[in-house]
Amino acid sequence: MGTDIVKVDMFLNHRLDTDLFVKMGQAFAQEFAQEKPDLVLTVEASGIAAALTTAMGLRKYPRGIRQEEPHPECDGDVYESRVFSFTHGVENHIRVDKDYLPKGARVLIVDDFLANGEAAEGLCDLVRQAGATVVGIGICVEKSFQPGHQKLAQEGYHVVSLARVTAIRDGKLIVED
Ligand code: 5GP
Repeated sequence: MGTDIVKVDMFLNHRLDTDLFVKMGQAFAQEFAQEKPDLVLTVEASGIAAALTTAMGLRKYPRGIRQEEPHPECDGDVYESRVFSFTHGVENHIRVDKDYLPKGARVLIVDDFLANGEAAEGLCDLVRQAGATVVGIGICVEKSFQPGHQKLAQEGYHVVSLARVTAIRDGKLIVED
Protein backbone atom coordinates (compact mmCIF):
# COMPACT_ATOMS: atom_id res chain seq x y z
CA MET A 1 0.00 0.00 0.00
CA GLY A 2 1.44 3.40 -0.99
CA THR A 3 0.35 6.75 0.28
CA ASP A 4 -2.58 7.14 -2.06
CA ILE A 5 -3.20 3.72 -3.65
CA VAL A 6 -5.58 1.39 -1.85
CA LYS A 7 -4.55 -2.21 -2.45
CA VAL A 8 -7.47 -4.54 -1.99
CA ASP A 9 -6.39 -7.23 -4.42
CA MET A 10 -7.43 -9.97 -1.98
CA PHE A 11 -11.14 -9.30 -2.41
CA LEU A 12 -11.78 -6.58 -5.02
CA ASN A 13 -9.25 -6.91 -7.83
CA HIS A 14 -6.97 -9.92 -8.31
CA ARG A 15 -9.20 -12.13 -6.24
CA LEU A 16 -12.93 -11.42 -6.05
CA ASP A 17 -15.12 -11.94 -2.99
CA THR A 18 -18.18 -13.14 -4.85
CA ASP A 19 -20.60 -12.61 -1.93
CA LEU A 20 -19.37 -9.04 -1.57
CA PHE A 21 -19.79 -8.39 -5.32
CA VAL A 22 -23.34 -9.75 -5.26
CA LYS A 23 -24.15 -7.48 -2.28
CA MET A 24 -22.56 -4.45 -3.95
CA GLY A 25 -24.54 -5.15 -7.13
CA GLN A 26 -27.75 -5.37 -5.11
CA ALA A 27 -26.93 -2.13 -3.30
CA PHE A 28 -26.32 -0.26 -6.58
CA ALA A 29 -29.47 -1.79 -8.08
CA GLN A 30 -31.55 -0.67 -5.11
CA GLU A 31 -30.00 2.80 -5.18
CA PHE A 32 -30.49 3.41 -8.90
CA ALA A 33 -33.52 1.29 -9.89
CA GLN A 34 -35.81 4.33 -9.78
CA GLU A 35 -33.60 5.94 -12.45
CA LYS A 36 -34.59 3.09 -14.79
CA PRO A 37 -31.18 2.48 -16.39
CA ASP A 38 -31.16 0.70 -19.76
CA LEU A 39 -27.57 -0.43 -19.43
CA VAL A 40 -24.55 -0.43 -17.14
CA LEU A 41 -21.28 0.94 -18.49
CA THR A 42 -17.86 0.36 -16.98
CA VAL A 43 -14.14 0.29 -17.81
CA GLU A 44 -12.38 -3.01 -18.21
CA ALA A 45 -11.07 -4.82 -16.44
CA SER A 46 -11.56 -3.95 -12.79
CA GLY A 47 -15.06 -2.48 -13.18
CA ILE A 48 -16.57 -5.51 -14.89
CA ALA A 49 -17.44 -7.64 -11.85
CA ALA A 50 -19.39 -4.89 -10.06
CA ALA A 51 -21.08 -3.80 -13.30
CA LEU A 52 -22.17 -7.38 -13.93
CA THR A 53 -23.67 -7.93 -10.45
CA THR A 54 -25.35 -4.51 -10.69
CA ALA A 55 -26.93 -5.46 -14.00
CA MET A 56 -28.05 -8.76 -12.46
CA GLY A 57 -29.41 -6.93 -9.41
CA LEU A 58 -31.41 -4.59 -11.65
CA ARG A 59 -33.10 -7.55 -13.35
CA LYS A 60 -35.50 -7.93 -10.43
CA TYR A 61 -36.73 -4.41 -11.10
CA PRO A 62 -39.23 -3.76 -13.90
CA ARG A 63 -36.85 -2.98 -16.78
CA GLY A 64 -34.29 -5.21 -18.46
CA ILE A 65 -30.62 -4.39 -18.40
CA ARG A 66 -27.50 -5.06 -20.42
CA GLN A 67 -23.89 -4.55 -19.50
CA GLU A 68 -21.28 -3.10 -21.81
CA GLU A 69 -17.67 -2.34 -21.24
CA PRO A 70 -15.49 -0.22 -23.50
CA HIS A 71 -12.85 -2.45 -25.06
CA PRO A 72 -9.53 -1.23 -26.44
CA GLU A 73 -9.71 -3.65 -29.34
CA CYS A 74 -13.16 -2.83 -30.64
CA ASP A 75 -13.36 -2.37 -34.40
CA GLY A 76 -15.50 -0.19 -36.54
CA ASP A 77 -17.49 2.80 -35.55
CA VAL A 78 -16.69 3.71 -31.97
CA TYR A 79 -17.03 6.49 -29.44
CA GLU A 80 -13.65 7.20 -27.90
CA SER A 81 -12.35 9.18 -24.96
CA ARG A 82 -8.97 9.69 -23.32
CA VAL A 83 -8.48 8.77 -19.69
CA PHE A 84 -5.40 9.37 -17.58
CA SER A 85 -4.86 6.22 -15.52
CA PHE A 86 -4.27 7.03 -11.86
CA THR A 87 -2.78 3.64 -11.07
CA HIS A 88 -0.58 3.25 -14.17
CA GLY A 89 0.33 6.90 -14.75
CA VAL A 90 -0.40 6.75 -18.50
CA GLU A 91 -3.09 8.03 -20.80
CA ASN A 92 -5.42 5.34 -22.15
CA HIS A 93 -8.07 5.46 -24.83
CA ILE A 94 -11.40 3.96 -23.91
CA ARG A 95 -13.75 3.00 -26.68
CA VAL A 96 -17.20 1.59 -27.06
CA ASP A 97 -18.84 0.44 -30.27
CA LYS A 98 -21.58 2.87 -31.29
CA ASP A 99 -24.02 -0.02 -31.67
CA TYR A 100 -23.75 -0.79 -27.96
CA LEU A 101 -24.37 2.72 -26.69
CA PRO A 102 -27.59 3.81 -28.37
CA LYS A 103 -28.78 7.38 -28.54
CA GLY A 104 -31.30 8.14 -25.79
CA ALA A 105 -30.15 5.25 -23.54
CA ARG A 106 -30.25 5.76 -19.78
CA VAL A 107 -26.79 4.72 -18.62
CA LEU A 108 -25.63 3.75 -15.15
CA ILE A 109 -21.84 3.97 -14.73
CA VAL A 110 -20.20 1.57 -12.27
CA ASP A 111 -16.52 1.32 -11.34
CA ASP A 112 -14.41 -0.22 -8.58
CA PHE A 113 -12.57 2.96 -7.46
CA LEU A 114 -13.00 6.71 -7.66
CA ALA A 115 -9.86 8.80 -7.26
CA ASN A 116 -9.49 11.88 -9.49
CA GLY A 117 -12.58 11.02 -11.50
CA GLU A 118 -10.76 10.53 -14.82
CA ALA A 119 -12.27 7.13 -15.63
CA ALA A 120 -15.79 8.24 -14.71
CA GLU A 121 -15.38 11.47 -16.69
CA GLY A 122 -14.21 9.47 -19.72
CA LEU A 123 -17.25 7.20 -19.48
CA CYS A 124 -19.55 10.23 -19.12
CA ASP A 125 -17.89 11.65 -22.24
CA LEU A 126 -18.68 8.47 -24.24
CA VAL A 127 -22.30 8.69 -23.08
CA ARG A 128 -22.47 12.36 -24.06
CA GLN A 129 -21.05 11.63 -27.52
CA ALA A 130 -23.73 8.98 -27.98
CA GLY A 131 -26.54 11.39 -27.12
CA ALA A 132 -27.40 9.14 -24.17
CA THR A 133 -27.88 10.13 -20.50
CA VAL A 134 -25.87 9.26 -17.40
CA VAL A 135 -28.47 8.44 -14.73
CA GLY A 136 -25.96 7.78 -11.96
CA ILE A 137 -22.46 6.72 -11.01
CA GLY A 138 -21.93 3.81 -8.61
CA ILE A 139 -18.50 3.41 -7.01
CA CYS A 140 -17.36 0.51 -4.82
CA VAL A 141 -14.56 2.41 -3.04
CA GLU A 142 -14.15 6.17 -3.13
CA LYS A 143 -11.00 7.86 -1.94
CA SER A 144 -12.55 11.01 -0.50
CA PHE A 145 -9.18 12.70 -0.10
CA GLN A 146 -8.98 12.90 -3.91
CA PRO A 147 -11.21 15.24 -5.91
CA GLY A 148 -13.22 12.82 -8.12
CA HIS A 149 -16.51 12.80 -6.20
CA GLN A 150 -16.58 16.55 -5.73
CA LYS A 151 -15.82 17.17 -9.42
CA LEU A 152 -18.54 14.80 -10.62
CA ALA A 153 -21.10 16.15 -8.12
CA GLN A 154 -20.35 19.71 -9.25
CA GLU A 155 -21.08 18.62 -12.80
CA GLY A 156 -24.48 17.44 -11.59
CA TYR A 157 -23.90 13.68 -11.51
CA HIS A 158 -25.49 11.56 -8.80
CA VAL A 159 -22.56 9.62 -7.29
CA VAL A 160 -23.08 6.79 -4.80
CA SER A 161 -20.03 5.27 -3.11
CA LEU A 162 -20.37 2.15 -1.00
CA ALA A 163 -17.17 2.77 0.98
CA ARG A 164 -15.25 5.97 1.55
CA VAL A 165 -11.57 6.01 2.44
CA THR A 166 -10.89 9.41 3.96
CA ALA A 167 -7.14 8.98 4.49
CA ILE A 168 -4.26 6.52 4.46
CA ARG A 169 -2.06 6.92 7.53
CA ASP A 170 1.01 4.80 8.24
CA GLY A 171 -0.26 2.26 5.75
CA LYS A 172 -3.67 2.02 7.44
CA LEU A 173 -6.94 2.94 5.77
CA ILE A 174 -9.19 5.41 7.55
CA VAL A 175 -12.71 4.50 6.43
CA GLU A 176 -15.80 6.64 7.00
CA ASP A 177 -18.63 4.94 8.95
P1 5GP B 1 -9.69 7.93 -11.34
O1 5GP B 1 -9.91 7.80 -12.83
O2 5GP B 1 -10.93 8.31 -10.59
O3 5GP B 1 -8.52 8.82 -11.03
O4 5GP B 1 -9.25 6.51 -10.83
C1 5GP B 1 -10.16 5.46 -10.90
C2 5GP B 1 -9.63 4.30 -11.70
O5 5GP B 1 -8.28 4.03 -11.35
C3 5GP B 1 -10.43 3.07 -11.37
O6 5GP B 1 -10.92 2.55 -12.59
C4 5GP B 1 -9.48 2.11 -10.68
O7 5GP B 1 -9.34 0.94 -11.43
C5 5GP B 1 -8.16 2.83 -10.61
N1 5GP B 1 -7.80 3.22 -9.22
C6 5GP B 1 -7.69 4.49 -8.74
N2 5GP B 1 -7.26 4.50 -7.48
C7 5GP B 1 -7.12 3.21 -7.12
C8 5GP B 1 -6.69 2.58 -5.89
O8 5GP B 1 -6.36 3.22 -4.88
N3 5GP B 1 -6.68 1.22 -5.88
C9 5GP B 1 -7.04 0.48 -6.98
N4 5GP B 1 -7.01 -0.85 -6.86
N5 5GP B 1 -7.44 1.04 -8.16
C10 5GP B 1 -7.47 2.41 -8.22
